[in-house]
Amino acid sequence: MDYEAIVIGGSYAGLSATLQLARARRRVLVIDEGLRRNRFAEHSHGFLTRDGENPTAIAAKARAQVMAYPTVEWLDARADAAAKDQGGFTVSVADRSFTGKALVLATGVKDHLPDIPGLGERWGRSVFHCPYCHGYELDRGPVGVIAVSSLSLHHALMLPDWGPTTFLLNGAFEPEENAMRELSRRGAAIEANPIRAIENHADVVLGDGRRLSFAGLFTMPRTEIASPIAEQLGCALEDGPMGAFIGTDAMKQTSIPGILACGDAARAAGSVAISVGDGAMAGAAAHRYLMFGAP
Ligand SMILES: Cc1cc2nc3c(=O)[nH]c(=O)nc-3n(C[C@H](O)[C@H](O)[C@H](O)COP(=O)(O)OP(=O)(O)OC[C@H]3O[C@@H](n4cnc5c(N)ncnc54)[C@H](O)[C@@H]3O)c2cc1C
Repeated sequence: MDYEAIVIGGSYAGLSATLQLARARRRVLVIDEGLRRNRFAEHSHGFLTRDGENPTAIAAKARAQVMAYPTVEWLDARADAAAKDQGGFTVSVADRSFTGKALVLATGVKDHLPDIPGLGERWGRSVFHCPYCHGYELDRGPVGVIAVSSLSLHHALMLPDWGPTTFLLNGAFEPEENAMRELSRRGAAIEANPIRAIENHADVVLGDGRRLSFAGLFTMPRTEIASPIAEQLGCALEDGPMGAFIGTDAMKQTSIPGILACGDAARAAGSVAISVGDGAMAGAAAHRYLMFGAP
């Protein structure tokens, strides 16, 4: 084996897993394509000690700390495929391949945004998905929630805690009577007119020409695991409300012995703090696997 562990994805979850392995003096290769999910945002919130900092700076410091360990190597590349062989795994990167005894999948997810003109350019700047990450900074200003399905009801019921909320249905669904009562109890207004575009900071231009100005907008993108490798290897997936994720036990062990998964790729919803915790668990579990084999 070239390495004791190969980690695919070198962001918060993958680096945290690598840190545990490096501290156990294990030889690790981190393969990372550099497309962190939060790369669109200027500020990251909710992670203790780094609240409000630039997410790229947080990742860069994490990488520098992990790479200070002599048993860790880094490869800037996309891992194209992986296969299970006798005694471990082979990961292919373009025309090269690497073998490792354990494999950690920390690939994160891709967001598929609603197809509304002007929304994509504002993603992470004035259009968000996580109120805990970006709601406080709106300073109790008006908030718009763009519906994508009936699941957006949950968003619209939460957001009044961050500012006066308008639920923009945009033809995605029609709330039933109970839901209407709950929305009114939470003080959320409802706008049924479809959205034509988003302009300026967070102005919603409606089909009938009206313009509603918000401090920020929230929507729930559909998510997709950022790499098909887990599926290729046959890891069991689970259905989350916004997309599939890699199923694991509490120690982040997938359905295939020796493959751990952590971060957004391995849970229904995540954050930087959760990914770091998840990665630490996956790193410890990978170490356990190297010492004792499958539990
Ligand atoms: C706009 C936006 C703002 C956010 N703001 C916050 C915030 O303020 N606070 C907060 O806590 N959370 C925030 N989040 C959530 C946060 O970004 C994620 O929870 C976190 O990045 C997940 O970490 P991760 O390590 O699991 O995955 P990611 O950070 O997404 O990293 C996955 C890494 O794996 C790499 N990768 C994927 N496939 C391969 C492959 N085949 N080969 C090699 N490399 C691969 C990717 O390129 C990437 O570098 C935000 C998300 C978005 C979309």
